[in-house]
Amino acid sequence: MPASTPENTLINVADTLQTRGLLFLGAHANLSLREGDRVLMTRGGSVADLHADDLVWLDLNVEAAEQPFEPAYREIISMHTRLYQAREDVGAIIHCHPRHATAFAVAQRAVPAVYEPMLRQDIHRDVPVVPWAPRGSSASVDGILRAFEDPAHVAVLLANHGALVTGATPEQALSRLTAIEEGAEVVLNAIALGGAQPLPDAAYAEVAARMRTFESAA
Ligand SMILES: [Zn+2]
Repeated sequence: MPASTPENTLINVADTLQTRGLLFLGAHANLSLREGDRVLMTRGGSVADLHADDLVWLDLNVEAAEQPFEPAYREIISMHTRLYQAREDVGAIIHCHPRHATAFAVAQRAVPAVYEPMLRQDIHRDVPVVPWAPRGSSASVDGILRAFEDPAHVAVLLANHGALVTGATPEQALSRLTAIEEGAEVVLNAIALGGAQPLPDAAYAEVAARMRTFESAA
């Protein structure tokens, strides 16, 4: 088994995105994790068959234009670095185009928090849609940061584009992304049955209390 390095962690999470079917046909995604003032990030468009030399360490104190990225991919840097600078609790970011969540993004409809596994991943508010602007542009990143000003949000949809999900760790971001994509699929399927029904207002507090009970018993 390979040593547990940040590089291996990101590669394993990218491989799991693929095996869980969380990537679309082009396997487009970008992933990163934060360690102190440094960020390890993918630097290509596709994460199929990712290797350590597809990853690069960035210094959070260095401007995006000065980072060791190919110009074609430089535009995605600030989508990650500015979010790390804005939110201390964010330790990892995954952006990709999961099939069902991206359908919501293209419809500019929030993924409603009506699926219990989303609550278990701290997604107890509808996953909001950030207004469209070209990928990586200041307008797009500003929109993402505005949504994340609310600490209750850990994920957003990018209008007409895809999803962006955070976590304390890459594994947590992956679990959250999985719950959102499952939620998006079941909400779409539920339309054939008359539509998803809301959870009770107290559902998140009750789920959190049960999780604490079982954590403390473990
Ligand atoms: Zn994208």
